[in-house]
Amino acid sequence: MRENVKATVKNILTGYLELNQHRKTPERFTILDAVYSFSGHFSLEELSDKLSIEYNFPVSRATLYNTLRLFVELRLVVRHRFQSTTKYEACYDNNSHCHQICTMCGKVTEVKSPQVNEAIESMPTRRFRKDGFTLYVYGICSSCQAKLRRRAETKNKKNIQKPNKK
Ligand SMILES: [Zn+2]
Ligand SMILES: [Zn+2]
Repeated sequence: MRENVKATVKNILTGYLELNQHRKTPERFTILDAVYSFSGHFSLEELSDKLSIEYNFPVSRATLYNTLRLFVELRLVVRHRFQSTTKYEACYDNNSHCHQICTMCGKVTEVKSPQVNEAIESMPTRRFRKDGFTLYVYGICSSCQAKLRRRAETKNKKNIQKPNKK
């Protein structure tokens, strides 16, 4: 499945480079292949590691950054700002989904919602062709909720014990 997607996105990149008379450098194609080998979000560091370890193809930070910027322009990659970190994501075959973000630990999970898809689908736009969407839902994940509960419980116990000590 993903191999088909890889072939399609490579064609998009080739088309763009030819149209704009840019050189078809192996870097761009190797980076694109690596990007489409991730199954979720990834950071610049993770991409850099993948390229040098799995592809044996180390690429400078500047080249990586510029190439990702091009991919974002071509709508092959989407850039996320999650709290303090920047993450990227291959989006050609995955351009409509929701993210739930824990505001305590920063954990990001993806959720698919047919209801939201339908709502966006039927949402009127002004002089605009919809290509996809990214939705962020903020809240508290279950493990942070458990942590909060435990903290509240120990606080309560202390409060109960205090009057006895006096
Ligand atoms: Zn959390
Ligand atoms: Zn995502």
